[in-house]
Amino acid sequence: MEKENDALRKPVRYLKGIGPKIGAILVKRGVKTVGDLLYLLPNRYEDKGALKRIEEMEDGMTGLVLGTVASSRPVYYPRARKRAFEATVHDGTGSLILRWFQGPLPYLKETCESDNTLLVSGRVSRFGGRLQMVHPQVAVIDDKDGIEGYERILPVYPEIDGIKQGTLRSLMRRALEDCDHGATSLLSREIEESYGLIPLGEALVKLHCPDETMLDGAMYRRYVERLILEEYFLFQVALFLKKREVTREEGISFTRDGVYRTRFEKSLTFELTGAQRRVIGEIEEDMGRKAPMNRLLQGDVGSGKTVVAVLASSMAISDGYQVAFMAPTEILAEQHYLAIHKAFDDMGVPVAFLRGNMGAERSVILDGIKAGRILVVVGTHALIQKDVLFNNLGLVVIDEQHRFGVIQRKILKEKAGSPDLLVMTATPIPRTLSMVVYGDLDVSVIDEMPKGRKKIETKVYLDKDKGIVYGLIEDELKKGHQAYIVYPLVEESKKIDLLDAKRMAAHFQKSIFASYRVGLLHGKMKAEEKEDAMSRFKDGEIDVLVCTTVIEVGIDVPNATMIVVEHAERFGLSQLHQLRGRVGRGKSAARCALITSEKRTALAVRRLKTMEKTGDGFEIAEEDMRLRGPGEILGVKQSGIPDFRVGDLVRDGHIMSRARRLAEDAMTRLTVDELDRVKNIVKQRWGHTLHLSDVA
Ligand code: ADP
Ligand code: MG
Repeated sequence: MEKENDALRKPVRYLKGIGPKIGAILVKRGVKTVGDLLYLLPNRYEDKGALKRIEEMEDGMTGLVLGTVASSRPVYYPRARKRAFEATVHDGTGSLILRWFQGPLPYLKETCESDNTLLVSGRVSRFGGRLQMVHPQVAVIDDKDGIEGYERILPVYPEIDGIKQGTLRSLMRRALEDCDHGATSLLSREIEESYGLIPLGEALVKLHCPDETMLDGAMYRRYVERLILEEYFLFQVALFLKKREVTREEGISFTRDGVYRTRFEKSLTFELTGAQRRVIGEIEEDMGRKAPMNRLLQGDVGSGKTVVAVLASSMAISDGYQVAFMAPTEILAEQHYLAIHKAFDDMGVPVAFLRGNMGAERSVILDGIKAGRILVVVGTHALIQKDVLFNNLGLVVIDEQHRFGVIQRKILKEKAGSPDLLVMTATPIPRTLSMVVYGDLDVSVIDEMPKGRKKIETKVYLDKDKGIVYGLIEDELKKGHQAYIVYPLVEESKKIDLLDAKRMAAHFQKSIFASYRVGLLHGKMKAEEKEDAMSRFKDGEIDVLVCTTVIEVGIDVPNATMIVVEHAERFGLSQLHQLRGRVGRGKSAARCALITSEKRTALAVRRLKTMEKTGDGFEIAEEDMRLRGPGEILGVKQSGIPDFRVGDLVRDGHIMSRARRLAEDAMTRLTVDELDRVKNIVKQRWGHTLHLSDVA
């Protein structure tokens, strides 16, 4: 068994027929092993047509003929100064001359020996009154009955520069022979059987040496899906293995109804939504358990995740543990700090804000954290710096927004043995993707908005109708509400002809909104300036905030009821959705106006239509993934998306769900030996992506 496995893992350059040149081309394409080669699948098949009688053949026709060789010989055409090899075949209805002007003579001689039965395919032409095929493909047939479909269907592979289709086909055949026709899959036959999987060997043979049944797209998909399922299954097993490592750690078992939790719940001025209560139940369950919690909390902007996280924090501090609360930006961290401070201050719980640049005060806070005097500390990346030491960290909350990678999560956890971990994300991730990127976490979803939240009326306007939009803004301002106007640029650019926040803020203050207070917020401002602008907007000292996407993340000003995005065609879907989430956080109805130039791509039109149609973050995330692909929407290089050989996350998402169910089941069903095999495979394939090195 191990032997055949080795055949699949053999470096591709050791395969017979692969010279250094082809070997190098393959390796460059990521095809390193014989197994990799076999997973390079045809993307379609060509039917060379059914077998024809020679008498049916006419000039210009392509077809497949079965005939017997009458004679063959090398010839020389003195006038053309050309050597050739010729054979005459007949099938009882007529005869046909096969001509080759090049090609290995010994091979042709042997193939075209008299009385051999040949399967001949090619294009027929008329030459000197007789039918001929030039450079036909021929194969010697031993048994006339065995020819049905033989070589009739040609696999067509993705184009690879420097390697001919024919070469690929023969390499595939050789690779299949080498590994005993893929007879041993990485999964044992027992596993294959118990999950109703087609044997790997069968799938590979059918895909690379197709018969007519493969012309049916559904059959092709069936075999391809078999390969994808295996790939996804292995990956999911890896995630479960990783998860199991965590749950084996000794963590903290928190009390569920600690004193601070009870007090916090009493202090809430609203009723929790059903979704919030369900999610709190899940968190409570995890936190009550000895094993560390490792949970992802997903929910649209404004769905009330922060309240849930604060409640979890209240459980931890009730038991005397510390909480670290980490946010991706300083503005957001501060906002969390204010909310948490407000929640806990009355109860006498010390909360600190650790910012990046804070001078002498920093060491006071660090001492407080180290001594355990500070129970809750809120901050940005500053929290994972070396000099931040905790006394007894019990819970880590990460408001992630995709910006923290796996590594940062790990560092923070390493600071304190095995605290519970709650990762929040307000950018809903398509289910398939969260099964891949966060597959080692348990997932809770808040899929319900607090009562009374109204749908944000979203409409797309053309540039020339801007006046209408400015009028709508004024209507809101008259009611005492506030508005955001968002631009793609901070300042005027020589390269692109776009409006920018700086100029427009000045313009508005002088003209249309002269009687209101216009403020400016963009990423190039100093941290203090940003904070100042934000807090003045929050306090109602600014009516119209002209800004760039810095306001994208998590800013909460309930009195802002309108957001306008200019050059909306330049923004991505998730970004637009995030921006829109800045409004509709209060009791009044809210509006989102997307202004776009008439010059825009079809994709942009599709994005804007989606925004008008739905307010559901998950629906938007799915569409965004279809439009941009999974890597892009996570927006970070080290996104943790593994390179699957066959599977495409957008196209084959449904297979991931099935693979996950199978993998979950496999964790209890597989024998120790089988799990070991799987572990080795996944370590080799994705150890790096998954940081699996520590999986024993
Ligand atoms: P998220 O963190 O998911 O963006 P927040 O927790 O900041 O959402 O909640 C958004 C706003 O809604 C906050 O002002 C919060 O106080 C309020 N809120 C949260 N849960 C509820 C609820 N169940 N009912 C009414 N308001 C709520
Ligand atoms: Mg726990």
